[in-house]
This record gives sequence, C-alpha cells and structure tokens, in this order.
Amino acid sequence: MSSLFDWFANKRKLEPHIQPQHQEREIADGLWTKCESCNALTYTKDLYANLLVCPECFHHHKVNSNERIAQLIDATTWQPLDKNLSPLDTLQFKDRKLYSDRLKETQEKTGLTDAIETGLGLLDGLPIALGVMDFRFMGGSMGSVVGEKLARLIERATQERIPAIIVCASGGARMQEGMLSLMQMAKISGALQRHREAKLLYIPILTHPTMGGVTASFAMLGDIILAEPKANIGFAGRRVIEQTLREKLPSDFQTSEYLVKCGFVDAIVQRPQLKSTLAHMISIHQPFYPVLPALFQQEHSVEKEPLHCLQEENGLLLG
Ligand SMILES: [Zn+2]
Repeated sequence: MSSLFDWFANKRKLEPHIQPQHQEREIADGLWTKCESCNALTYTKDLYANLLVCPECFHHHKVNSNERIAQLIDATTWQPLDKNLSPLDTLQFKDRKLYSDRLKETQEKTGLTDAIETGLGLLDGLPIALGVMDFRFMGGSMGSVVGEKLARLIERATQERIPAIIVCASGGARMQEGMLSLMQMAKISGALQRHREAKLLYIPILTHPTMGGVTASFAMLGDIILAEPKANIGFAGRRVIEQTLREKLPSDFQTSEYLVKCGFVDAIVQRPQLKSTLAHMISIHQPFYPVLPALFQQEHSVEKEPLHCLQEENGLLLG
C-alpha cells in the first residue's frame, strides 16, 4: 500500500542536496536587493516601484539610462535620437586592453552604443529633449559620441523651442579619446549658449557621481541646477585636492548637500519627486508652450488639450 509514497520519499532522499540550495540562492539574488548604505533587504520589485530609492534610509541607488527614461518620460512617448552613433578608436589607444576591445565588450554587456541615450519625449504631457548618461558604460565617460549626441540633442531642442534636460552620471572625460573627448566640453557648451540665446530652458540633474569634464561644462551651465541627495559632485577627486592644498576637507565636501550650501546647486530633489518638480519648473518657465514638435503632433494630438501657443499665434493670448 505504502509503496508509492515510499518510492517518492526514497527518491527525495536520494536527490543531491546541492541543487535545491543553489536554486534557492539564485532566486534570492534576484528577488531581494541589499541596500549599499543601510544593508536593509528590500524586495526588488518594491525597490523598482520606489524608483530604486531604499525605503528604509532613502539611499538613492544608481539608475541606468533605460530605467531613468522610464521614470521621467510618459509611457510610449520616447523617441530616441542618433541611436546608431557609435565610437571609433581613432588614437588606437591601449591601456590594459585595447580601447576598441573595451568598447565592444561594454556595448555587448550594456546593449548601448555609448554612455548616453538622447531623445525627445513628453514629461507629464510637456515636450522635452532629454539626455541620460549611463554610468555602466565605461563610468559614463564623455567621449566624442557622448559630446556629439548631446550637441545634436540641444540643437534639436533649440530648433523645436523645447526645454533641454540632461541627467548627468559620469566620471569625466574619456581618457582613451584624449583631446577629442576634451573638445566635447566646448562643443556642448556652445550649443547650450545658443539654446540660452533663444531664451529656452536648460536643467541639468546631477546624480551620483558627476565629476571631471562633465562638471566643468554642461553639468554646471544650467538655468536651474538640480541634484539627487548625497551625490558626489566635483571636478578633481577629494584625495587629489587634499594633497594639492595640504588641507583637511570637510566630511561632506563634494556632496550635493555641500554644493547647495555653497550655491553651486540650486536644489536637491528626491527621486520620487523629480518628475513632478521638473514638470512644475518647465510650466513656470514656459507659460506659452511652443508648438509641439511635428513628431508629437502626429501621435499625441488627440490626447492633448488645445495649446496656449496656438492661441498665442492667433493673437488671442497676446496683450
Ligand atoms: Zn538603505
């Protein structure tokens, strides 16, 4: 009578114990995420729902470019620009590895062509040009592709008369491209100056970390400069400065909080409030919305209310 049960029971006993343990660990790895700051375990799904902010200590985990776009841009409105722009190893640079090999590896690992994604989209219904740096791609370093994509993005924003927003996450210029990476600072700054002359809004968002040539150019050229809490923001690293100045620096040196006190950063915004804060700022600064870029008009005109600008063009809102 009990033979079938015995058979199952014996079979279970005979199965090696390693397999289930291994399986359990694999599931646990993906299901739970340990906070880098307070070590609290959070259910990964909950962490993503909370925009990768620890619910215990509010530590802001690093966010990759895809996730950041999903957090800021209204669903189905993202239109990437220059997606196929890919870097070249002009200098045939070699450190521990060939630059060309390093590029190939990183491209395969991240699915990105370089350390930035740019595009147009709607943020709470407002058209914006958005650039998002990705720290996973060689530390978010700024090479010629990052520079070119950003310059083109800003020029497009100027042309469409929409605000430009750049989410910075970078270790600085890409040393493997030498001078070519440093030239990007001037190129992007030039595009931003023309955007400013057209009286259009530009907001950089400084996330952890924003360093080097990025801080020395577009990260600090915003009309309003926002930062995420406890982000490391600076030009040279803390140790280099301490050695040069031979001075002990304050413990919060080069953090968002320190830079707000010194006036380099205008406000620290918690990630869950970032989208609504941006929408608020854009609507304050552009009370008369420009005509939606043709791209948006085709796809989203149905959902939109009549725009102020259309009225403005007819002279209804003037005076
Ligand atoms: Zn935490």
